[in-house]
Amino acid sequence: MSNYDYDLFTIGGGSGGVRASRFASQYGATVALAEKSELGGTCVNLGCIPKKLMSYAAHFRADFADAAGFGWQLGESTFDWASLIANKDREIARLNGVYRSTLEKASVEVVDGHASVVDAHTVLINGRRISARHILIATGGRPTRPTIKGSEHGISSDDFFHLKALPPRAVVVGGGYIAVELAAILNGLGSKVTLLYRGKQLLRTMDHELGTFLAAEMIKNGIDVQFETDIDALHANGDVKQVQLNNGRIIDAECVLFATGRHANTAGLGLENAGVALRENGSIVVDDQFKTNVDSIYAIGDVIDRVALTPVALAEGMIVAANLFLQGGRRMSYENIPTAVFSHPNVGTVGMTEAEARKRYGAVKIFKSEFKALKHTLSGSTERSFMKLVVDVASDRVLGLHMVGADAGEVMQGFAVALQCNATKAQFDATIGIHPTMAEEFVTMRTPV
Ligand code: FAD
Ligand code: NDP
Repeated sequence: MSNYDYDLFTIGGGSGGVRASRFASQYGATVALAEKSELGGTCVNLGCIPKKLMSYAAHFRADFADAAGFGWQLGESTFDWASLIANKDREIARLNGVYRSTLEKASVEVVDGHASVVDAHTVLINGRRISARHILIATGGRPTRPTIKGSEHGISSDDFFHLKALPPRAVVVGGGYIAVELAAILNGLGSKVTLLYRGKQLLRTMDHELGTFLAAEMIKNGIDVQFETDIDALHANGDVKQVQLNNGRIIDAECVLFATGRHANTAGLGLENAGVALRENGSIVVDDQFKTNVDSIYAIGDVIDRVALTPVALAEGMIVAANLFLQGGRRMSYENIPTAVFSHPNVGTVGMTEAEARKRYGAVKIFKSEFKALKHTLSGSTERSFMKLVVDVASDRVLGLHMVGADAGEVMQGFAVALQCNATKAQFDATIGIHPTMAEEFVTMRTPV
């Protein structure tokens, strides 16, 4: 018989917290979970799901244009922002309900409200003190705004999903995932978009050719991409924001969107009461089994600032649940995590960049292909696609796969399994392609560059 109210109390009902709680309960633990906002967290409410739905919406502009080359005569198309937002919100409300019923069915008690840590075994929520053998922090992250004059006149990705109207002109700041995805959505839906990036290469943590190739495609799509450019100050003039750039230029826009990174959600959580160690950026320090420096407190997901992706938070959550309530010793591998950026066109990648592979293995072979997809031979679109394989010369293992092109995320998932199995280039070559697809290019590239 436990001396605690619960075996596990999870703070945060997002991707990681929900998954860990469900699995812990399935393994026999008594579990409660606190959520201060909507169940599903960032991914469901302000991230992956609304973003992808809006990305689909934005693709229709190109689809309508492409159709003419295939004989379709379409009338003039119009777009209604309010319908898209209402339909998207309805789907998200449905998902919030699915999350709640899934937790209830799994016998996890959901406590709505802001929870904080009182000590190593106690949380406080809605004035109620609850004790737990283990506390799991899965409070995610939130957008970071740059400290420039007038930054309060800009919005973050959180606000983007609830804008009342499509801005006629938008300035997007940043060169990472969110910047390129939301710039593509705004552009596709009809805003005139300027993307400001302080560096020289978009998606700079990925293989260098992906960001360069994507930038060229975004420019072709009509986005004004400005490198080595930042905002000095922002002034509001009614609905119009005046964006003062560090190169002296001034741009007017109805919307300025900061996509300048995210930070861990640890403020106001009472972690200091239990003495939980944090990094300077506010993220929680954990060991290889997600335990903090306090034996009873664990943390997973964006709040630990490792890899901020939903499937990673899910995997971390399952490891914590299994280690605590099934059998200890499981560890998370961060190798070969596939990821896609839902820019237009998409970017997909798994494994090492060319630079990482050269550093770790020395001699590598590079196979590359750049081409016009079959669809665009008739559509008239000038979109091009890019594929790249990084291969270790000594072992013939494929170390990295990188792509810019339609449905890159769908293509990448299967190849991630191959990399997980240490597939060699010879095994790629021995694999029969599916014709005519773009993905077949990954098994037909024969000559290294
Ligand atoms: P979250 O999902 O953020 O959940 C944390 C939860 O904790 C929140 O619901 C919050 O309300 C709650 N909470 C915080 N403090 C408290 C408290 N004190 N008491 C009670 N509750 C609290 N990842 C992908 O894999 N694919 C994508 O396409 C993708 N797109 C994204 C697009 C955007 C715009 C953003 C911002 C992120 C995207 N991500 C994507 C990243 C993904 O959303 C996160 O990695 C994932 O949601 C992290 O899960 P988590 O459980 O760590 O935290
Ligand atoms: P990223 O870390 O990907 O990008 C942040 C960008 O903002 C970088 O280009 C950075 O520049 C720039 N930046 C940071 N500070 C400033 C500043 N003060 N002024 C100007 N520019 C600045 O963060 P995101 O917010 O885009 O996304 C957060 C994470 O969420 C991602 O890393 C990813 O893990 C996850 N995500 C995943 C998605 C997916 O799976 N499709 C989609 C969206 C998010 P620099 O490069 O010079 O540092």
